[in-house]
Amino acid sequence: MEQSFLAYLKGRTRSLLQVDVGIGDDAAVIRSPAWPLVACTDQIIDGVDFAFDEHDLADVGYKAMAINLSDIAAMGAVATSALVTLTLPKQNATKVAGEVYEGIIEAAKQYDVAIAGGDLSTYDGPLAISITVLGHVAEGQPWLRSGALEGDVVLASGSFGGSILGRHLRPTPRLELAAAIGKLATVHAAIDVSDGLSLDLDRMCASSGYGVELDVDAIPVHPDAIKLSAKTGREPFQHAWSDGEDFELLLSVSPEDAERLLAADLPAPLTAIGKIVGRTGLWRKHEGKFLRLSPQGYLHGE
Ligand SMILES: [Mg+2]
Repeated sequence: MEQSFLAYLKGRTRSLLQVDVGIGDDAAVIRSPAWPLVACTDQIIDGVDFAFDEHDLADVGYKAMAINLSDIAAMGAVATSALVTLTLPKQNATKVAGEVYEGIIEAAKQYDVAIAGGDLSTYDGPLAISITVLGHVAEGQPWLRSGALEGDVVLASGSFGGSILGRHLRPTPRLELAAAIGKLATVHAAIDVSDGLSLDLDRMCASSGYGVELDVDAIPVHPDAIKLSAKTGREPFQHAWSDGEDFELLLSVSPEDAERLLAADLPAPLTAIGKIVGRTGLWRKHEGKFLRLSPQGYLHGE
């Protein structure tokens, strides 16, 4: 199927300026307008990360691209191009590839990412989609998890919880927001929320060697978390705290930069949810005492 499908793909994927040589040669030739180059990859597999029989394959393709773009946003980078590898079940391979690609192409168009190449193979096994996204940092340094400083304010984009009701299939990678923030502030540390607000926040703090004192009441709870709580009987806050797949950004910035960002007109809302403190872990102050909160979320492979 490879040759004819590649011909179809070549027609479907736009050529963008950032790619000199795309699909059709031994390797892609990609132009990076700036350094450093930033790269990430993520694979999703039927039966592990999605269910072939339940989910629209275009949605699954869209998600596979969007979760990578979210990682690029979390580095404060601009996404340029993507390499896409599909491992397809033998049955209806071309049809399945076409459906998955519809979502991949949709996300690529939306975020100006060129599909520069990839691979297709068929086998007797479940569908797996692996996407590698390349990007670059336009100005300043890439945002790492490890750079938070004591006294920083922790900002969160958007709101959290209940993504399983549908948002998880069509997440909004915060590329536009990251670009706007990069122009206004120096981000000390950042992470995107894939596995749970509290778990990913804990990861950023642990990488930095600090902890966070949270203003728990300030954490923005998504309306989906409230809807879901009616079904699960759990508090909406619990869903916001641990559900994951929100693909929002958590950022650690100086109090001055936090003030500037909170006053700015940005492509997505930001909320101050806590401050970086010397003691490691997640904390809340309650009646003058510090209470330790336990991070919860999705742990891979457990
Ligand atoms: Mg990430």
